[in-house]
Amino acid sequence: MSTSISNKTREEAFAYLFIKMRNRITLRVDYTLNTDTGIIDFGNLLCDLFMNIKDTLLQRSHGQCELCTAKTELSVYEIPPATDPDSDKCVLLCDSCKTQIEKTAEINVNHWRCLNDSMWSQTPAVQVMAWRMLNRLSTESWAQDLLDMLYLEEDVKAWAESEVDDDTTPTLDSNGALLSAGDSVTLIKDLDVKGTGFTAKRGTAVRNISLTSNPEHIEGRVNGVRIVILTKYVKKS
Ligand SMILES: [Zn+2]
Repeated sequence: MSTSISNKTREEAFAYLFIKMRNRITLRVDYTLNTDTGIIDFGNLLCDLFMNIKDTLLQRSHGQCELCTAKTELSVYEIPPATDPDSDKCVLLCDSCKTQIEKTAEINVNHWRCLNDSMWSQTPAVQVMAWRMLNRLSTESWAQDLLDMLYLEEDVKAWAESEVDDDTTPTLDSNGALLSAGDSVTLIKDLDVKGTGFTAKRGTAVRNISLTSNPEHIEGRVNGVRIVILTKYVKKS
């Protein structure tokens, strides 16, 4: 569905825009004013610029949660860091997905098997949310497998990684020492590395670790394989 509002009179056009702006939409308007007739031509504005965000998302998602396809209790989730309200930066979520994402409900790991389908969405906002959730779940081998398969365009990847961590929980090792990206740690326990068929031995040094969005997980390379390691099994070197 696409419509333009060409050839409205100036007054009609501005009244229309004013009403729509009060519905919190983002406007990117190109128009030309015909000074002879006083008529504004808005060209090929897509209709969705003139609908409020929820209507846009309901249409995009065919009325279902964009992550798990539930059809009830749907609401708009603005993907942090949120700037201007813009449907491209939002997803339509059911209550179950939303509360788990916002960490107001306990995570139900099996619920997120739905990402197996939704991560293939063509909508960047959905790809970003799938990527972030799979990262949160990356100690589950199925989630890590999906993450390995999920290819994001460069700009979408940068967006996915740009999450502002609003909980400032520090990442600590088994002794409570603060860990930072680039640190080296030593494993204090033999760890079976799921899906690789090897055991990372106690005493193994892991250099140049990365932090994750989960303060209980770090990432590092062991035997040439990048793995997620629980911080309770490491000690800062
Ligand atoms: Zn859902």
